[in-house]
Amino acid sequence: MLSDASPSALLLLLLLLVAALYLLAPPLHPPFPRSATRPLTQVPISVNYHFTRRCNKSCGFCFHTATTSHIEPLPNQKEALRLLAAAGMRKINFAGGEPFLYPKPLGAMLAFCKRELALESVSIVTNGSLVREAFLREHAEDLDILAVSCDSFHEETNVAIGRGEGDQVAQLYRIAGWCRKYGVLFKLNTVVNRLNVREDMNAHVAALKPFRWKCFQVLIVQGENDSAERLRDGNKFTISDGEFDEFCERHRGQACLVPEPNRLMAKSYLILDEYLRFLDRTGKQPSRSILEVGVQRALESVYWDEESFLERGGLYDWARPEGEKGGCGGASVEELDW
Ligand code: SF4
Repeated sequence: MLSDASPSALLLLLLLLVAALYLLAPPLHPPFPRSATRPLTQVPISVNYHFTRRCNKSCGFCFHTATTSHIEPLPNQKEALRLLAAAGMRKINFAGGEPFLYPKPLGAMLAFCKRELALESVSIVTNGSLVREAFLREHAEDLDILAVSCDSFHEETNVAIGRGEGDQVAQLYRIAGWCRKYGVLFKLNTVVNRLNVREDMNAHVAALKPFRWKCFQVLIVQGENDSAERLRDGNKFTISDGEFDEFCERHRGQACLVPEPNRLMAKSYLILDEYLRFLDRTGKQPSRSILEVGVQRALESVYWDEESFLERGGLYDWARPEGEKGGCGGASVEELDW
């Protein structure tokens, strides 16, 4: 049959074949480099909800300072959490300010997130001073991770930082014990800064056995702690990248150490503030409230660095493994990394 066809018909057939192959073949590369594109729909997989800015401490480098005392009514907070879960949130971290200034709404939100929204991971980050055993006894079922900030095991350094009244270390040990007792993963957060950068914390970290020990390089955030005109001026506390690396090197024997230099930290957290707005990580205006415009529109109006979120292991800090009762000795990091 083909031998009967005219040369022009054969040429046409050939062209059609080439066009079909071109259209059907999978592309060898994505059409644009990843950094040049923004996904059409962003998924707020992991959200840090700073539901209050109020705090009972006054750390000199704090980058979420008490510029307002606003707190949303509980029904609004629950509605916002429901919208976030519908948009794909799987992990929530309640932060402040100090979340334990509001133990009742905090407990109600934990229960809501675990029981009604069935989130995979629910955590709190706290300065520890207001944590009580009764709270953990009552809410442990709804809480996967309790992260406690401690920047020094010398109380005079804690006092100089603005966090201590001389009892922070003893309270930290109490909380670690309660977490083990009630089956909540205990995490330790340390901001490495000018006042603690030479400290050797190995013995205490080994004794406390956190499942993760996050060490942050002190961070300057525009509009929050970047000058003497703000409530806090973090510039007095900054350290060089080399000093931060030395601190991490001194503690590299701690298997649960997770260093977080400024490069990874600055823009990689998706933050919802006390007005239910996403914060822009480049210093622009926050979004409008997600109750007014919905999660997607709010997300589209701000910048956060999803790639750094993944690079710093943002998907890593997750729920309790089945049967795990907390503590560095048991919860292997690999079990939680997925
Ligand atoms: S405890 Fe946390 S929220 Fe409170 S002042 Fe210190 S860094 Fe800020």
